[in-house]
Amino acid sequence: MVADGPNPQSRAANAALKLQYETLMKTPLVRLLAALLIGPLAHPADLVPLRGFSADATRDEREWETKFRAIPDPTNVRAYMERLAARPHHVGSPYDQDNAEWLLSKFKEWGLDAKIENFDVLFPTPKERELEMVEPTHFTAKIEEPTVAVDPTSSQHSEQLPVYNAYSIDGDVTAPLVYVNYGVPDDYEQLDRLGISVKGAIVIARYGGSWRGIKPKVAAEHGAVGCLIYSDPHEDGYFAGEVFPEGPYRPKDGAQRGSVMDMPVYPGDPLTPGVGATKDAKRLPLSEAATLTKIPVMPISYGDAQPLLAALKGPIAPYAWRGALPITYHVGPGPSKVHLKLKFNFDLKTLYDVIVTIPGSKFPDEWIIRGNHHDGWVNGAEDPVSGAAPLMEEMRGLGLLLKQGWRPKRTIIYCLWDGEEPGLLGSTEWAETHADELRTKAAVYINSDSNGRGFLGIEGSHTLEKFINGVARDIEDPESKLSVWKRMQASRLAHPEAGDHQEARNRPDLRIGALGSGSDYTAFLDHIGIASLNLGFGGEDGGGIYHSVYDDMYWFSHFADTNFVYGRALAQTVGTAVLRLSGAELLPFDFDNLTETIRRYIDEVEKLAREKREQIIERNRAIDDGVYTAIEDPKHKTVPPAKEPVPPFVNFAPLENGFASLQRAAELYNHALAHASENGSSALARANLRDANARLSQVERFLTSKEGLPNREWFKHQIYAPGFYTGYGVKTLPAIREGIEQKDWKLVDEQTGKVGKVLENAGEAIQGAAAELSRSAQ
Ligand SMILES: [Zn+2]
Repeated sequence: MVADGPNPQSRAANAALKLQYETLMKTPLVRLLAALLIGPLAHPADLVPLRGFSADATRDEREWETKFRAIPDPTNVRAYMERLAARPHHVGSPYDQDNAEWLLSKFKEWGLDAKIENFDVLFPTPKERELEMVEPTHFTAKIEEPTVAVDPTSSQHSEQLPVYNAYSIDGDVTAPLVYVNYGVPDDYEQLDRLGISVKGAIVIARYGGSWRGIKPKVAAEHGAVGCLIYSDPHEDGYFAGEVFPEGPYRPKDGAQRGSVMDMPVYPGDPLTPGVGATKDAKRLPLSEAATLTKIPVMPISYGDAQPLLAALKGPIAPYAWRGALPITYHVGPGPSKVHLKLKFNFDLKTLYDVIVTIPGSKFPDEWIIRGNHHDGWVNGAEDPVSGAAPLMEEMRGLGLLLKQGWRPKRTIIYCLWDGEEPGLLGSTEWAETHADELRTKAAVYINSDSNGRGFLGIEGSHTLEKFINGVARDIEDPESKLSVWKRMQASRLAHPEAGDHQEARNRPDLRIGALGSGSDYTAFLDHIGIASLNLGFGGEDGGGIYHSVYDDMYWFSHFADTNFVYGRALAQTVGTAVLRLSGAELLPFDFDNLTETIRRYIDEVEKLAREKREQIIERNRAIDDGVYTAIEDPKHKTVPPAKEPVPPFVNFAPLENGFASLQRAAELYNHALAHASENGSSALARANLRDANARLSQVERFLTSKEGLPNREWFKHQIYAPGFYTGYGVKTLPAIREGIEQKDWKLVDEQTGKVGKVLENAGEAIQGAAAELSRSAQ
């Protein structure tokens, strides 16, 4: 049932129909007759009504969407970027506030109802930063990104935040150095096998393999007293490609700033967990803020890292640990000994969230929310302006449509968040402040962050998978002129090694990824339980300026979306999604894809539990059989693993029972929807859909639990969460999956019951929506 399906014959047939239709429809009388007699005869793309729209409403909707997509202009996207990225604009900087006020004035100029909401949050900035190697030779790290002559804004040193990790604690430590690869839990298991402890040491980890905040967290858990994180050229420098300014990749002295707040526990202001950081909010004392690091941590360039790593001795690093520096990688500890001194201003800074509301005409209490942050680490042309500038074009477009008489049925709220970079501050504090209202009213949140050239990337709630596939089919890729959906499909078909080419060919919808964390959708999806999407183009432009002073207009206009046509495509994509969601008579959620996806997650965790058990049995047996003693090399001592208790079999029955209820409910909903649509889909238009919509917007809420995930109650969603030990990387069915990974079998047993119950409740909510739909379609 797709207008732009994979079958070329159906496309040709559609084209022929379209021509006939267009000729025919030029006569007003025929148009009238067609409407009266033939009913659903329509533009071929309209032959199938849009999900949630009757046939008539589909026609209107498509007309508005076509008008809308003609508006976004690459020249404007470029001009907004020039303005927003002209100076450094981190939280608390003069230009951050200046940008917010400029955004506000533009939105008002476009006739939109805009305001700024302020919050006061903890945002530490560095007072002292020192890193030196004191043994075996002396070396002082630069920890500074130099001006690049051809890049005009790279010289704005007085306004640039220095290279640092936000929410590191103060510290003054001197200790031997140990190289820990990416610094994730598996790396420490390897170190154990090498007989190396990081207790009392300063670790040096390379970026990659996890979100950066995991590295100091795991290092501290293993007794390290300090942590350095460097960009290895293997992932982020000359090995990846030509370096800036000759190419887009990270130069020798470029370093990656970034937050190391323990966001998998809770994001947002560390002093106001769970509540908005308004002026008079109750704040924790700094000593009780749980999301600051336990040890001092600082990011450095590969220029600064090389002498430290080159001086390390001890075992040669395992093959997979070696980067692309021209040295032999050793693990240590020592003889390099380093001194790290960090001191911060732990001040409150003011956030400026810019919020625009377009009231809904029919369902004003159902909200479609759309956001992108506006703060950057430095000039932030790519992150976030390449996403924020297209969002502005969407808003200008909606402003124009409003003047032409368009009215959304639902209320649309556009948000330009401040403080995303330090810890999703602006979105989290806003969501916490408005939590009660969001719980009753929010239907969907759509996020974007950075945007580049290439393929549309989609992650999000699987209740929206079918919907967003439909949108992607209607957007033209600016370079190939295919639909962006076709291009996404082709990229999967061209890479059979990834294993999803068969389903890309046969499944009606392209599978979308699940959301972990790393941008402003987190509070909406994970804390409140609002169906969410994250959208952006990418895959044809690489780079190594992430969170550095070189992420600026010069870099972006030379190496990324240089003519800003993908900026226009993003505005067209997300704007179309916003129009369609806000204009639908019935919210276009789908529960088939949700159910199918959850089935896959359940299969995965069941398999994971089986494999964990088998692995432990096998390793215990190898230990008993003396395997590790037999392979020991006296010249390269290793430590054999210890025996572990064999895990019990896990009882997945409660989870399976919950799933069965969910599946049944999805079937009932499909019946109800098919019935409502077959009575000449005008039944949708006739019906009072308020109650069905109200129930539909609550379904995602039922996938959360009030008590949240084990040990991190802020995270309430039971299907998706950022991993406790991966950071941005998603863990699906997180309570169960992480219980298995951490071999906490008692917890796993508890959680299969709890998650089963959540699935059952979500099933009931879906059944409720089905019942309302059947009633209103009578
Ligand atoms: Zn960003």
